[in-house]
Amino acid sequence: MAKPDRPRKDRLIQTRVPRDLESTLKEEAQRRRQTVSHLIRSVLEDTFQLVDDVVADVDEIVGDSARLARNVGRNARRIMSAGRDEAEPGASPDQTFPDVYAWNELVLNREIPCARCDTPIAKGERGFFGMSEDPTAARVCLCGACIDAMSLS
Ligand SMILES: [Zn+2]
Repeated sequence: MAKPDRPRKDRLIQTRVPRDLESTLKEEAQRRRQTVSHLIRSVLEDTFQLVDDVVADVDEIVGDSARLARNVGRNARRIMSAGRDEAEPGASPDQTFPDVYAWNELVLNREIPCARCDTPIAKGERGFFGMSEDPTAARVCLCGACIDAMSLS
């Protein structure tokens, strides 16, 4: 058993252990018919193999989650664009925005396309945001020309 079956380039690591751990190791080594040294080496090898496997599994789980998130995002975008295609075939000047109960005039802090004519409303310009009672409704912003064209008053 102690006969070296591989070249002696293994490193020697010494460590102090409490007396009860020493007797546990000796008993376990005896039970397995191994040397204490061999037992410790296989326990360490098993432990690090286990850690490697766990880390590999975690990588896989993270990869799966990222893939899932990408798919969910893609599906959400597809559903959203499908909904948009139904509601607005391109820029539809005939749109009446039935969900909107009021138009709130705001100064834009970033460019947003007009929901009716698709013209970009620049930062600093006035946009008219549709107020909807449905908090999940898509945000609608119109340009001044479209608000005028809808002849609300
Ligand atoms: Zn417009």
